[in-house]
Amino acid sequence: MKVFKFGGASINSIERIANAADIIQSFTGEKLLVIISAMGKTTNALEKVVEAFFSGNKNEALQLFQEIKEEHLTLLKALNPAAGNILGDLFTEVEWLLHDNPVRGYDYYYDQIVCCGELLSTAIISDYLNSIAIKNTWIDVRDIIRTDDNFRDAVIDWNFTLQKMQDDIVPIFATTNIIITQGFIGATDENESTTLGREGSDYTAAIFANMLDAESQTIWKDVEGVMNADPKLFPHAQFIGELSYKEVIEMAYYGAQVIHPKTIKPLQNKSIPLHVRCFLKPALTGTIISSHPVHNLPPIIVLKNNQVLMQFSSKDFSFVEDELVDMLHQLCVDIKIRPNLSQNGAISLYYCLDDKPEKIEKLALAASELFDVQVEKEVVLLTVRHYNETIVNELTAGKIELLSQRTQGTIQVLMKNKLGD
Ligand code: ASP
Ligand code: MG
Repeated sequence: MKVFKFGGASINSIERIANAADIIQSFTGEKLLVIISAMGKTTNALEKVVEAFFSGNKNEALQLFQEIKEEHLTLLKALNPAAGNILGDLFTEVEWLLHDNPVRGYDYYYDQIVCCGELLSTAIISDYLNSIAIKNTWIDVRDIIRTDDNFRDAVIDWNFTLQKMQDDIVPIFATTNIIITQGFIGATDENESTTLGREGSDYTAAIFANMLDAESQTIWKDVEGVMNADPKLFPHAQFIGELSYKEVIEMAYYGAQVIHPKTIKPLQNKSIPLHVRCFLKPALTGTIISSHPVHNLPPIIVLKNNQVLMQFSSKDFSFVEDELVDMLHQLCVDIKIRPNLSQNGAISLYYCLDDKPEKIEKLALAASELFDVQVEKEVVLLTVRHYNETIVNELTAGKIELLSQRTQGTIQVLMKNKLGD
């Protein structure tokens, strides 16, 4: 059995859905569990619905949802003019909620509303595939993936979910070759919808792969495979044919937008290879990620924009002792913000963090009881794995280096554009 994941961009038009169908069809005779994301930018559009609803603009929320509804209905009919009312219940689930007033937290409503993106896309594609004789079974993954109620970042109940897979998914494969379902979403024991964090579908696919002992997982993307840098920022980015799980975990940790960071562990635990392939060029083999160590990798470049450098200095010129370091660390835990890089000096601590203004302000305020706090905005964190001096010089040319750290394999430089750049 193989697990496939199609991302939002791979199904954002009629042509692309037909293309995904061709890919699925080319595996005729094999058992496939197919996870499909919400179409195109639907998740972002649903986030706008949540914002409107939660800020009390019920009509705007309903109007925005109406647009999403029409888009999906048009697509359903275009793909299968004979389609029945298969989306009705999914729409009602959200509309029923939008007619109420918010009485619970933002994150709760976010999950109840945003989860419908994947439910709609998978329902439409499953119906289309059946209509062109690619027989498949559609599953509401919320009946399978059980989570806690930490909305927007829900944690999987591994035992319950495993049991569900065995009881409900395994028997379906006895009679059908293809199961179509959603990533990114789950449900609590009270049947409330939950989400696993943005871009979480890769992770769901890995959970299925692990629990069903899949022979492989394939993520179908719009790029040839994993590149050594973001091709939008670096036109000379190189394709990498083979990577180890360890390398990919490192890349994800430093912020490479390749694969959802939680995806690797469930695969690594069962030595299931992960393929990253291009849905536009299915003849290419793409990148294979497995336990095999890979040597001689090119420098792998990750740029994180929108960073802030915070400097915490002792108020009286005394050393920053462990106790203060611990207190600062605890503040970050409480505020739920994690430094991307930290460095200790004699009388100062430096943290580089994502610029989430509300959290940064909170941290600066709380920390100002203990330290003198300085905040430098608009900085960029550059990470290069397998670096050499030439590439580092090239990437830092014309920049002011605020701070840097290096190990044998990885260099990180926090930098700022020189004035006028
Ligand atoms: N649709 C969700 C998102 O855009 C989940 C995913 O695609 O992985 O974040
Ligand atoms: Mg996506």
